Amino acid sequence: MNPLDAELTRRLEELESRALRRRLREVDSPQSPEVSVGGRELLSFSSNDYLGLANHSRLRDAMIEGARRFGVGAGASRLISGNLRPHVDLDDAIARFKQTEAALSFSTGYATAIGAICSLVSRDDVVILDRLAHASLIDAARLSRATLRVFDHNDLGQLESHLRWANEARSQGGVARAQTLIVTESVFSMDGDLAPLRDIVALKERYGAWLMVDEAHGTGLYGEHRRGVIEAMEMGGHVEAQMGTLGKALGVSGGYIAGSRALIDWLVNKARSFVFSTAPPPAVAWAAKEAVALVQSEEGERLRQVLWSRVNRVKEQVIESGWALPAAQSAILPLRVGGEEEALKVAARLLERGLWVPAIRYPSVARGEARLRLTVTAAHTLEQIERLGDALRSCAGPGVA
Ligand SMILES: *Cc1c(COP(=O)(O)O)cnc(C)c1O
Repeated sequence: MNPLDAELTRRLEELESRALRRRLREVDSPQSPEVSVGGRELLSFSSNDYLGLANHSRLRDAMIEGARRFGVGAGASRLISGNLRPHVDLDDAIARFKQTEAALSFSTGYATAIGAICSLVSRDDVVILDRLAHASLIDAARLSRATLRVFDHNDLGQLESHLRWANEARSQGGVARAQTLIVTESVFSMDGDLAPLRDIVALKERYGAWLMVDEAHGTGLYGEHRRGVIEAMEMGGHVEAQMGTLGKALGVSGGYIAGSRALIDWLVNKARSFVFSTAPPPAVAWAAKEAVALVQSEEGERLRQVLWSRVNRVKEQVIESGWALPAAQSAILPLRVGGEEEALKVAARLLERGLWVPAIRYPSVARGEARLRLTVTAAHTLEQIERLGDALRSCAGPGVA
């Protein structure tokens, strides 16, 4: 064994011994509630395909049409020659959906976070992050080389003290350019609770900071027009940068920033994950544009209503089996176990019964806060939810971990 492999093997064994080693599972079917895994049919409560669009016929047709009309590859970054009609139309569709002056799509949500945060702040600036912010936001904040301050989850008092500190540091340091950027999520990806966006907006306005909100788990589900939690909380005009992904409720792939024309023009010039990366496949952008239209249509509203009625039924089942759930309305239901090994055991017992509910461990959540992350979609049937309830009651109550 060469020295690299010897070292990596040692490290993997260490992960294994702490119940932190992760392995890929191969899914041999489209993303849907019933998936085929290693020759077995599993009932899945594990995807972020909240509206059941990942295998929707209208989006499948759009992707095929996109490939027919525009081919499979963009050939270059968008600033060189890869700015095809589907990319332009998708950006316009996102801006209209989000009711912002402009929008810019990226290859993934992860690339969006890196490109946006690193182009907005640098060494002399401050980024203030919620402790539970997604890895893409944390990585972006670190890569930006701005000073990083973290506040306890949704703790407005700590957020305010960081804002005060940043303003004092700026006036003492006399750095003319220093800016403060607050970054948070609207719906937290592993806990399913919401950020108090109205209070955060009030604070950022009081202290002259900028605000970026990641709506990865909010877009398509919240607000009268399903734009997200920012719409539901009527904060649309007050958030400088609205971020999101096209790969969750929208069912396709990609990420975006929606905001002012100036913000988007700046990103086109400076977001390195946009500038130095081949544009996404045009067929993907074409399908994503169709997904934005679908979410805004009556079908989108119907699917959202189905989703919330399924969520409510799942919550009843979960509570009947003895688990506590957060109060927020969300399609993400964390069943808290604590220990990594215990979480794996509960997941394994559910798997024996044909249910796929992933155990989420460090580093996706803090050490000792392992949980099952149960996600519900509009594509789940009531009968499938009854099966989940039976399994939770018979083999996976909180006491039998
Ligand atoms: C999934 C996720 C992302 C990354 O988006 P991708 O399109 O999957 O790369 C960013 N932020 C949050 C909060 C997420 O949950």
